[in-house]
Amino acid sequence: MSQGFTLWFTGLSGAGKTTLTNALVPQLRARGVRVEVLDGDEVRTNLSKGLGFSKEDRDTNIRRIGYVSRLLARNGVGVIAAAISPYREIRDEVRGAVEADGATFVEVFVKASLDTLVARDVKGLYKKALAGEIKQFTGVSDPYEEPLNPELVVESDSETVEESAAKILARLEELNLIAAARQAEKAGAAL
Ligand code: ADP
Repeated sequence: MSQGFTLWFTGLSGAGKTTLTNALVPQLRARGVRVEVLDGDEVRTNLSKGLGFSKEDRDTNIRRIGYVSRLLARNGVGVIAAAISPYREIRDEVRGAVEADGATFVEVFVKASLDTLVARDVKGLYKKALAGEIKQFTGVSDPYEEPLNPELVVESDSETVEESAAKILARLEELNLIAAARQAEKAGAAL
C-alpha cells in the first residue's frame, strides 16, 4: 500500500483550489494513488451543513475536514483538501494530527492577488463582497493568514493550470509520495 498523504490547498476564494484538484485527481490516479477529495464548498453542504463564517464556525469546518483527511491518509489514501482555511493555527493543528498518524501533510498555498481575484470573480462573490452584500468575506472583510512555511506556493496569477499542477506533482514526487511520471506511464501501459 502506498503511503497516505494529505495535500492541503489553502488560498482565497477563486485562487484555484478546486481547479487544481480537478486537474490533479486523474493524474494521481494514473500514478496508482487512491485519491479522495474533500472540497470546501461540498463539505459545507453535507458534513458542515449549518455552519457559518464566524471564526468559530470556520475553525470547526476545517477541523472536520482535517479529521476526515486524517482517517483516510492513515489508511494509505492520497487526500486532497481544498478549502480556504484562513487561519494558520488550525491548519497547523491539522498538520500535527495527520503527521501524528504517520502520514505526510503537504501544504500548498494557492496564491493570487486580490486584483486578479476580483477581475476573475469566478463565482461573482467578490463583487457582492466589495459592495458590502456579503459579510465576513475572506480577503475583503475577513482575515486570511498566509502560510509561513508551506511545502509549495503556486501562483495562479502567472502560472497556467497545467504549470501549477505539474509543480505540485513534482513536489509530491520529491517527497516520495508518488511514482515519477516515467514509472506511471509504464504502469499505465501495463494495465
Ligand atoms: P477556488 O476553488 O480556489 O475557489 P476555483 O478553482 O473555483 O477557485 O477558480 C479558479 C479560477 O482561476 C478558474 O477559473 C481557473 O481556470 C483560473 N486559473 C487560472 N490560472 C490558474 C492556475 N494556475 N491554477 C488554478 N486556477 C487557475
